[in-house]
Amino acid sequence: MPEKFDVIVVGAGPAGTACAFECAKNGLNVLLIERGEYPGSKNVMGGVLYRKQMEELIPEFWKEAPLERPVVEQRFWMMDKESVVSFGYKGLEWATEPYNNFTVLRAQFDQWFAKKAVEQGALLINETVVTECIVENGKVVGVRTDRPDGDVYADVVVLADGVNSLLGKQLGFHKEFRPDEVALTVMEVINLPKEKINDRFSLEGNQGCTIEIFGDSTKGNLGTAFLYTNKDSLNIGVGTTLSSMIKAKLKPYDLLDYLKSHPMVRPMIEGGESAEYLAHLIPEGGFRSVPKVAGNGVLVVGDAAQLVNAIHREGSNMAMHSGKLAAETIVQAKARNNFSAASLNSYREALYGSFIMKDLEKYKDAAHTFEKYPQYFKEYVPMMNQAMSKFFTVDGTPKRDKQKEIMKSITSERGTLKVLQDVYRAWKAVK
Ligand code: FAD
Repeated sequence: MPEKFDVIVVGAGPAGTACAFECAKNGLNVLLIERGEYPGSKNVMGGVLYRKQMEELIPEFWKEAPLERPVVEQRFWMMDKESVVSFGYKGLEWATEPYNNFTVLRAQFDQWFAKKAVEQGALLINETVVTECIVENGKVVGVRTDRPDGDVYADVVVLADGVNSLLGKQLGFHKEFRPDEVALTVMEVINLPKEKINDRFSLEGNQGCTIEIFGDSTKGNLGTAFLYTNKDSLNIGVGTTLSSMIKAKLKPYDLLDYLKSHPMVRPMIEGGESAEYLAHLIPEGGFRSVPKVAGNGVLVVGDAAQLVNAIHREGSNMAMHSGKLAAETIVQAKARNNFSAASLNSYREALYGSFIMKDLEKYKDAAHTFEKYPQYFKEYVPMMNQAMSKFFTVDGTPKRDKQKEIMKSITSERGTLKVLQDVYRAWKAVK
C-alpha cells in the first residue's frame, strides 16, 4: 500500500463507489475503504436503481450488472383498512433498452459495482472501519482505521459513509440528526416463484412492478410502505420518520407484520418464504438538512450529505451523481494541485446547480408539512376510499347526487374552510 493516495473514499455504497470509479478512471490513485465483509453486505434499499445516473458512469451497464427486473409499472396505493384507491402508470417503453429503472438486490449490485471501480484501478479494502479523519493544520490529510498501523493519507478524503455519517459529525459538518430528519425503515425479502409473481402483478417475462403504499400502511403516520418485484422474490418494507414512530409509539417490526397481514397486501405475498429481514435509516430532512459538503481536503457525498428525495424515493441516483460530481471536482483540483476548501467548493456549486439540490429545494417544506398536519394521511386517505366506494357502488342514486353527497361528507367532516386550507397547504408544499 503506498503511503499516500490521491483520494481516499470512505464507504463502498453507490456514492463512494461512483466517486472511486470516476477518480480511478481519470488516472488518480484511489483507496476505497469499506467496513462490511464486502460492498453491499451491510446495505439496504427498497430496491429501485435508476438507469440515467448509472449509465453516465457505465454505459449499457444493464448488459452485465446483476439486476433483478426492469420496472415497467409504478403503482401508488392510498390504503384504508379494507380498501385501496390505486393509480399509476405502466409503459412497455420501459421494458426495452434503454429502460427507465430496475429493481436490484444491493448485496449483489454493490459488489459488482465496486468490482468495476477496482477494474479502473481503485484499491478496495473491505472489513476496515474508518474511525476518524486525520486533521493537520485545519486540513483533512487522511484517515485513521481500525487496522494496526491503520493511518492512511491522501490529498482528498471523500466521506461516503452513509446516513449516520459519524465522520462528518466529528468534523463538525453536522450535528446529530433530529428524529424528524431520518426515517426508520424495515424490510423483508420474500422468496416467491417467478410465475406466481408474474400472475399476481400482471407481468410478463422479466418485467417488474413497484407499489408505493400510503395511509393505513403506516397507520396513518407520515411515511410509506413498498412492495417491489425481484426475479423470484419480493421486497416488502415500511418506514416512518423516527419522530412519528416515537410519537405514535410504533414498533417498526409490528408495522411490517401489520402490513403483511393487511387484506390488500396479504394475497400478493401469500405462500412466500421469508429470506431476509433488514432495517436501516433513510435521511429525509431534505434541503434544509444538507450539511456542509466541502471543506479543506474533504468532500461529503450521498446519504452522508442527506441527499435523498423521499417524495420520489430517489436516493441511489443522487448518491451516484454526487459521487460523480465530487470526482470531477477532485480531478480539477488535482490539475491545480490545490485541495483547499476554496478549490473544492466547486463541488458544492455543481451539487447546487444539479437536479439533486433543485429537487430537494422544490420539496423543502413537504415532509415538515405532512408531519405537522397529520390529516393528510390520517383523514384524507380514508375519505378518498369512502368517496370511491360511494361513487362506484351502483344503488340507483343519480351520479350528480352522489357527487354532492361525497362533497358534503368531506366538507362536513373537516369544514369547508379547513379543506380549502389543507388543499392550498399541500399544493404549496409540493408545487
Ligand atoms: P450507503 O449505501 O449507506 O453506503 C455507505 C457505505 O459506507 C456502506 O457500505 C457502509 O458499510 C460504509 N461505511 C459506513 N461507515 C463506514 C466507516 N466508518 N468506515 C468504512 N465504511 C463505512 N434509494 C433509491 O434510489 N431507490 C430505492 O428504492 C430506495 N429504497 C430504500 C429503501 C430503504 C429501506 C432504505 C433504507 C433506503 C432506500 N433508498 C432508496 C435510499 C438509498 O438506499 C440510499 O440513498 C443510498 O444507498 C445512499 O448511498 P450511499 O453510498 O450514500 O450510502
